[in-house]
This record gives sequence, structure tokens and C-alpha cells, in this order.
Amino acid sequence: MLRIFCLTLCLLFPISGVADWLKKEADIMGTRIVVELYHEDPAIAQRGVDAVLSEMHRIDAAMSPFIESSELSLVNREAAQHPVAISEELFELLERANRVSNLTSGAFDITFASVGFLYDYRKGIRPDDRQRAAATSLINYHQLQLDRPQRTVHFGQPGMRIDLGGIAKGYAVDRCMALLAQLGIGNALVRAGGDSRVSGERWGRPWTIGVRDPRDRDGVVAVIPLVDVAISTSGDYERFFEQDGVRYHHIINPRTGDSARELQSTTIIGPDATTTDALSTSVFVLGLHEGMALINRLAGIDAILVDHLGALHYSRDLQPAKKLRTGVKAPSGTVSP
Ligand code: ADP
Ligand code: MG
Repeated sequence: MLRIFCLTLCLLFPISGVADWLKKEADIMGTRIVVELYHEDPAIAQRGVDAVLSEMHRIDAAMSPFIESSELSLVNREAAQHPVAISEELFELLERANRVSNLTSGAFDITFASVGFLYDYRKGIRPDDRQRAAATSLINYHQLQLDRPQRTVHFGQPGMRIDLGGIAKGYAVDRCMALLAQLGIGNALVRAGGDSRVSGERWGRPWTIGVRDPRDRDGVVAVIPLVDVAISTSGDYERFFEQDGVRYHHIINPRTGDSARELQSTTIIGPDATTTDALSTSVFVLGLHEGMALINRLAGIDAILVDHLGALHYSRDLQPAKKLRTGVKAPSGTVSP
């Protein structure tokens, strides 16, 4: 009898006991952080959760544009006047951002912040046409001069600013997953806002992640099983306001200094969250055709795009996934990025 009971339990919970899964949510980096993981030793599981939260706080303290003492704020204050020596970590992330800028012909450009700071989505504030044109002329990642031997950053023109909002959350997720791996935690999900990464499995099954319906908070447009990958969603529904029927939101086309409006949401799946985060923002700016063409050129990267009419588009390697359930409600345990 006992044996049958144990067998039933093992079938129900093939990789763990109920009590050993930990889940924690917190608000850090201006967004919702979720960590969910399993380790057979509860003390190690708890160390994993603690490590994720403190790593998120550490990266926020270094890279937030809203924290005056952050390294990023220091760069924004001083780099137009002289080259500023920065940490290896920030230097590498700036290099990585510039590589994405090159790859996307400047659709991704962290100097978008030169105009981005003129918008306040909560208060419904935006620059007028003249202000926008002047600030947009300062957006140019070629003027973000990185000196590798000196490990400095220098802005080529005064008034330039940078913001890592399109890549730092993905980077933080990757860092956290690396810390969990070091602790020997192989079944985990870490999420920061729209950026998630999973390792191993959940209750013996692949993790599933729902792609939110951009126009219905509770709906999902696709549910995707994931194994050891990252997934990022960018949408025009996270931070926005409407004026005269026009939606102003936080993803800026560096050519116009205005919100990109060809798509409602972009979801990118790839090997690491730094890449998927930066690419979800990039493809949002590039739009349906250019964005999809880029994704189809990149090995190991997939995309699900929702166009401005709400229609779904899948990258080439996901085409069979069209058979995936669409327009369904998220099953319990699903994470909506
Ligand atoms: P979220 O912050 O909601 O996860 P995204 O990953 O799409 O969404 O990133 C949007 C953020 O990226 C914006 O809040 C802003 O900080 C930054 N950003 C906006 N436009 C660009 C751009 N063209 N290039 C790089 N970063 C951008
Ligand atoms: Mg992004």
C-alpha cells in the first residue's frame, strides 16, 4: 500500500517533493522580479533565492539612471566632458550594446536616452516637435566612444545620454542564472519584467511561458514550452499614455525620437537573456518585415511578433508552432512576460 502511494507521488512529482520548490517575487529595477527554483537541499534553494535578489539589487545600484550614485549616472554626468573610467562589467555591457547597434543598423541605440529623458509616461509628458528634433540629433551610438585599453567611455557630443533599459534586465537575468548554476541549482526560472530565462524543468516538465495579448491584460496569444533558453517580450502596453488617439510608449525609434508604432509586441527566444532583451527592443523598432528578416538571418533566435492589427507572425523556425494553441487563457503556472 505504502509502495503504491510512493509510486503515485513519484509520478505526480517526478523530480522533487512539494516543499522543495521555492518561489519569490519582488519589485527591483523598477519591475517585477520572479525567481522559482528547485534544489533537494532547502538551504541551498534559499541561498539561490537570496543570491538572485541581491544580484538584482547590485545591478540596479550600478546601472539605474534614476539612482544618482549609480555608475551609469556618473557616466551621464561626466562623459561629455572627459573620458570616464568605468568598471569592467559596465564596459563589457556597453560594448555589447554597441554590437547590437551595429547588428540592427542603429535600431537599438542606448543613446536614445538623449531624447528618451524628455518623456514621462506616467505623467503623460512628451517633448514638442522642436525639442524632439534637437534631442534626436544627439542619438548616435558611433559617438559612444569606448577605449578598451583605458577602459573609458567618452561621449562625442555634449547633451548625449545613455540608458540601459533595453538590455540591463536581460543581463541581470543571465547573471542570476549563472549564480544559480554555481550553486548547483539546475531547475530554475528567473524573470525581470519581460525578460525570463529557464533552466532544467518544472515538476519534471518543460517550463511554459505565455506571450501576453498586447490588448488584453488577462489573455495570452501563445503558450510556449521552453528548455534552457531565454525569452523576452517588448510591448507598447507596459509604459504608455495616449494623446489625441496616438499612443506614446517607451520604445523609441532612434531615427525619429518618437515611439515605434509598427508592432504591438515582440517576443524573442534565444540562448541568453541579454541577447533576447536587446533584440526584442530592436525588432520592435525595426518593424515587421525588417525585424523578421533580421531574426531569420540569426541562427538560434526565434520570434513571435504581434503587428499593429493584432495579427501573429512567427519566424521561420517556429512556423510549425503555428499549431500551438492561440487565443487561449494561460494555464496555471504559466508566466506571462
Ligand atoms: P521593458 O523595459 O518593458 O522590459 P524593453 O526590453 O522593450 O521593455 O525595453 C524598453 C526600454 O528600452 C525602454 O524603457 C528604454 O529604457 C529602452 N529603449 C527604448 N528605445 C530604445 C532603443 N531604440 N534602443 C535601446 N534601448 C531603448
Ligand atoms: Mg528589451
